[in-house]
Amino acid sequence: GARDGGEQPRERRRRVLVFPLPFQGHIDPMMHLAGVLHDRGGLAITVLHTCFNALDPARHSEFRFVPVPDGMPADVAAAGRIIDVILAMNAAMEASPAAVRDALASALAEDGEDNGAACLVIDANLLAVQRVAREIGLITVVLRTGSAACLRCFLAYPMLHEKGYLPSQESQLYMPVPELPPLRVRDLFQTKISSHEMLCKVIARINETLRNSSGVVTNTFEALEPAELEKLRGELNLPFLLAAGPLHKLSSKKTTGSSLLDQDYGCIEWLDTQASGSVLYVSFGSLAAMDSGEFMEVAWGLANSGHPFLWVVRPKLVQDCDSVALPEGFEDVIKGRGMVIQWAPQQEVLAHRAVGGFWTHSGWNSTLESVSEGVPMICRLNAVDQMMNARYVENVWGVGFELEGELERGKIENAVRRLMDEREGAEIRERAKVLRRKVAECLDSSGSSQIAVDKFVSYILSL
Ligand code: UDP
Repeated sequence: GARDGGEQPRERRRRVLVFPLPFQGHIDPMMHLAGVLHDRGGLAITVLHTCFNALDPARHSEFRFVPVPDGMPADVAAAGRIIDVILAMNAAMEASPAAVRDALASALAEDGEDNGAACLVIDANLLAVQRVAREIGLITVVLRTGSAACLRCFLAYPMLHEKGYLPSQESQLYMPVPELPPLRVRDLFQTKISSHEMLCKVIARINETLRNSSGVVTNTFEALEPAELEKLRGELNLPFLLAAGPLHKLSSKKTTGSSLLDQDYGCIEWLDTQASGSVLYVSFGSLAAMDSGEFMEVAWGLANSGHPFLWVVRPKLVQDCDSVALPEGFEDVIKGRGMVIQWAPQQEVLAHRAVGGFWTHSGWNSTLESVSEGVPMICRLNAVDQMMNARYVENVWGVGFELEGELERGKIENAVRRLMDEREGAEIRERAKVLRRKVAECLDSSGSSQIAVDKFVSYILSL
């Protein structure tokens, strides 16, 4: 099998190019996939990366790195809104394909005595790169970093417009979408930050990238989304659609070294001093932002809950604030019981025995990381795929609940108690443990995600 790749010196040197979208939630799964292909499949890896959110080659000595000019206008880069960045980056690359062609050529030329690059694994948002790859005859495989349910929603986007579900109307938000159970209109992929037209364009381009690819790898696992994966295989009709997640659990690296912000490991020492299952971990991912009023409510809701907590307050968590100030008196109130840091080694935090709950924005990586460690969730969402992720957390897997409506300290306090103390919390915790066992099964030596990786490595070696 492919896992014996290490004993086949000729194939050992097969090279794979990878090109992540430069956002934290997209970089991490790509780098983990690269790590798995390198360690398990014995493949050599070249990482293509943009100047925007550039990766640090020094932190991945086992990979080669090739920079690709992204031609990002300074104002779009500074605002960092993901939909706008995707469109601007693709537009710039389409305007000067020669720059991309040169970068790909240099990644391929670097091979020297190697057997040549087998294929390019790209993020689904990089259609401009795929177009150039096709021109030079380089096979592309798409890594889709979200859930299978989310991918189904992308493919269904034209239908959702034809049938009038989208753009959504306030009065129809709780209406079910029978074509995509268990989603309701409010759970469909949407954004409040960029325009609906821009979002539609991004999704149409994702769909085109998928259909032009030789196959898709997704960061989910068979037992988590069995029906969605089955339907998706029919809907996409590609040579392969592999569910190889959770990628961070397959990769041998503890952290990816690809964090865009410095992870504060001091919090692990602090967690060591806390009782098992007692701490609520609070983080809203790399992009979500709130206004200063909401920030105050979160702070005092956590303080008033009486529970130990570890809260990630990253720069820009409060809209337009580079460094966020905690409310006056807050630190005295929470002394010893609460810790606030700028950025966490989240995968290690969730795996820590002291962590008993996760208040999350329900980004897919965060959801999968929580599911992997059996940590139950409070979901507070914003947009994009977070609504549907939370819908599955609450209604399909039963491992958490949504905190809806206005953020208010009393409501937050109650939600924390409901998760950490009450009977309902105990039931949710029990289901989270059951789901964690399913994760362990898919990671087992003959588990579904291991088989998916084997298939992918065999495919690459067959090229
Ligand atoms: N993350 C982290 N430290 C933090 C918060 C988040 O390392 O303090 C990581 C987290 O482990 C996850 C990623 O950042 O892998 C966030 O991805 P997700 O899809 O959850 O949300 P996004 O940031 O894309 O909204």
